[in-house]
This record gives sequence, C-alpha cells and structure tokens, in this order.
Amino acid sequence: MDKVFHFDSPPGQYRADACVVTCFDARFTTAIAKFLKRMGIATYDQVKVPGSVKALAAPDGDADRDYLLRAIQVSLRLHQPSRILLIGHNECGAYGGAPADIIIGDLFRAALVLKGTEPSFPVECYFADFDGIYKCGPNGAATISE
Ligand SMILES: [Zn+2]
Repeated sequence: MDKVFHFDSPPGQYRADACVVTCFDARFTTAIAKFLKRMGIATYDQVKVPGSVKALAAPDGDADRDYLLRAIQVSLRLHQPSRILLIGHNECGAYGGAPADIIIGDLFRAALVLKGTEPSFPVECYFADFDGIYKCGPNGAATISE
C-alpha cells in the first residue's frame, strides 16, 4: 500500500459523549457539528443514514429498521454513550417533500422504538432547519440554537 495522507489518529478505546443519528445530507453537516460542540458533545458515534431515523419510525422494510437499530446498539455496547440524539432535518430527500411535522413525528416514533429496546437510555429529538437546530418537545419545537 502507498501512504497517500498523513494524520495521527488517537489509538485505543474511547467512551462516547453521545450516539448521534442523522441523515447524510451535507447541507446540515456544519450546523450539526457546531451544535454538538455547543452542547459539550466532543466525542460521538455518528450514525449517518439517508432519512436519519425514518428507518426506525417508518421503515421501507424490516431490514432497514434492524440495520439502524443494530448500529445504535453497537455504539451503546462499544462506546457507552450517555445519551442518544436523534436529528431529523427539513426538506429531507428521504421524505420526498413531506412537511416538517411528518419528519418531527417520526423523531418521536423513533424515540419510542428506542425506548422499547433501551428503556433506561436518555433519547433526545432535534430538528435541523435552515436557520438552526430546534429541540423537539412534547408540545412542539423550541429554539435552542441560532
Ligand atoms: Zn435527509
């Protein structure tokens, strides 16, 4: 093999501050990274799949749901994160133009699915919009970051 890039990555095991489930939509990559930093989440397992938690809440098939669930469970087992963050976003291609409330509803449904398999685990829901990240509470969305 030819070395094509040099970078020193930290060896050894780590404990994650969070397991973060997001879509792979690059428009929100910077906002989500800055938001996590603001939240004090420095080391995290990011499970990036198209549609984010759609595979848990409204899967196209059991295989999609099982895959995402397994990825989250591997994070919990290997890196003992203290919380799970589920982040959906506006205009998600996986939803084919569905309005924000459908995507936010899926965040809550996915949180319930995770509560069913990991009942003691803190799960938080967030919605990334083009002007910032919103925390999704039971009474709707509230701004927590500009
Ligand atoms: Zn998306």
